[in-house]
Amino acid sequence: MDFDLTEEQRMIQDMAYKFASNEFPTYSQECDREEKWPRDLWKKACEAGLVGPVIPEEYGGPGYGFLEAALVTEQLSRVDMGLCLATTATVFGSEHIVLFGAEAQKKKYLPPLVAGEAISAGAFTEPDAGTDVAAGRTKAVKDGNDYVINGTKMFITNGTICDYYVVFCVTNPEAEKRHQRHSLIIVESNLPGVSSTKIRGKMGIRASDTAEVVFEDVRVSQENLVGEEGRGFHQLMHFFDATRTTVAAQGVGVAQGALDRTLRYVQERKTFGQPLASYQGVQFQLAEMATKIELARNITYKAAWYVDQGRTNPSLNAMAKYFAGEMAVWVCDKALQLHGGYGYIDEYDVQRSYRDAKILEIYEGAKEAEKMTISRRLF
Ligand SMILES: Cc1cc2nc3c(=O)[nH]c(=O)nc-3n(C[C@H](O)[C@H](O)[C@H](O)COP(=O)(O)OP(=O)(O)OC[C@H]3O[C@@H](n4cnc5c(N)ncnc54)[C@H](O)[C@@H]3O)c2cc1C
Repeated sequence: MDFDLTEEQRMIQDMAYKFASNEFPTYSQECDREEKWPRDLWKKACEAGLVGPVIPEEYGGPGYGFLEAALVTEQLSRVDMGLCLATTATVFGSEHIVLFGAEAQKKKYLPPLVAGEAISAGAFTEPDAGTDVAAGRTKAVKDGNDYVINGTKMFITNGTICDYYVVFCVTNPEAEKRHQRHSLIIVESNLPGVSSTKIRGKMGIRASDTAEVVFEDVRVSQENLVGEEGRGFHQLMHFFDATRTTVAAQGVGVAQGALDRTLRYVQERKTFGQPLASYQGVQFQLAEMATKIELARNITYKAAWYVDQGRTNPSLNAMAKYFAGEMAVWVCDKALQLHGGYGYIDEYDVQRSYRDAKILEIYEGAKEAEKMTISRRLF
């Protein structure tokens, strides 16, 4: 067993951290306060080669694995998780095309994502169907060579800024089992009948665009079907099994960033004539934070490594995402506490990490959904 990263992986890690440290601070406060998605920063991230790490070389990407994607995500989230999403989650949903797409779809839809010419979105959740995603009712009905799509999707990352969505639709309503009724279909955002409304007022990750998306008699060619008709639910679960490792890496990164800031703060801030860092009660808290981050990092890298070996372990991935998310919320809470009153003010980045971390327990499957995956496999 070898726990060392390769030299190339360390270089990727280093490059991502330097990029975030140099570029993010200019944007952090403004994008957070104004819920602004920074287009120019996304372009810079594309130029730096940080966007679309798992897109294969023949489609313009670097062809890295999910471990490298986790390394990039961790380092960017360490500086600002909202800006990490704003710059690199711009390929979200396209993993379906990488995993299940036809050759023509890969050629058409993947290269522009890496080149900074297009943005994708994964549209699965509906107003009444989140955790129970198979309850999704958005319909795609065949008409000639087309599908005609009607329905509403909720909380869609990149919803107002994307060029295309990969949409989870009912195509086989008559199928006996509800898990055989759905398919994934690419829908371009500029088609007649597609409309999106930005959702404002998010607690955290405010630089990331989130929207409600409505499809009203939207006509797309049947060639836009990704993978197999009626296999959409299974493809979606397979997709989450891979991408959840990236969400776990967001948790590791945001928690590490909060610890970094706290380590600096407790050495500067004095109470009773001594730096906070001199108190054992404080040192023990820092030790617990570092330990939990390291545990989450290990399970995240391990889960991503298995995905890259073609031996995806859904239970391990669910454990990584659930543990890293809960750990990040816990660590960011401790970090804010150690900053005292200053931590509560938005001049200090630690309060942003605290708000950002919470989403890790909710999106890409709430932590309860992860526990369902884990417990199902225990029996
Ligand atoms: C900022 C943001 C970005 C998002 N981005 C995307 C995106 O890009 N694409 C997309 O498709 N979706 C996206 N989502 C949606 C997200 O994945 C869902 O919110 C999530 O899956 C939970 O679904 P829900 O909100 O409908 O909660 P519900 O399913 O209504 O669940 C509510 C609560 O009950 C718990 N619960 C539900 N069922 C059970 C049960 N059987 N046992 C125990 N507990 C249960 C859940 O865990 C949760 O805590 C995003 C959400 C947010 C907030």
